[in-house]
Amino acid sequence: MKILNRCTLEFTSIPENVAFARVAVAAFASQLDYTLPELEEIKVAVSEAVGNAIIHGYRNRPDKIVRVNVTIYKEGLEIQVVDSGIGIADIDLAMQPAYSTDPERMGLGFVFMQSFSDRLQVDSSPGKGTTVTMFKQMGLRKARARAN
Ligand code: ATP
Ligand code: MG
Repeated sequence: MKILNRCTLEFTSIPENVAFARVAVAAFASQLDYTLPELEEIKVAVSEAVGNAIIHGYRNRPDKIVRVNVTIYKEGLEIQVVDSGIGIADIDLAMQPAYSTDPERMGLGFVFMQSFSDRLQVDSSPGKGTTVTMFKQMGLRKARARAN
């Protein structure tokens, strides 16, 4: 796929930056013809991934770095959320609906990321960190219009 545009955000792991990341990614994504509901889905997926990086990856330590890579292709948008935190030992288990290592949490973050993106990939190794990659296609109607 040909890259049309890309940007990288890097910010410290404070909870305020969840809102920053979701708005910044949505602003960048608005170069594509997503509908408002699709942009809302993108925002939720970004919030969940960045929230996880801060809360779980960095165990709420505020002095770490979260990186978000956003790439625009003709076919859609790729969002990558990268932390170098504790990592995930069992990725399949972590992605199970309602699974959480924190009894206070719902364990629904990955469920939202899965349902609000067309492709979700999680790469992680304990002690090294986690990369969550999501891809959201352009609507078929719009892709067709663009091809004309
Ligand atoms: P919720 O998102 O509903 O508040 P949650 O964060 O526990 O709850 P998920 O987002 O689905 O649920 O994540 C499931 C589990 O995967 C987490 O409880 C945590 O153990 C692990 N996890 C997710 N992201 C990371 C990460 N970036 N680093 C380390 N562990 C992670
Ligand atoms: Mg979560």
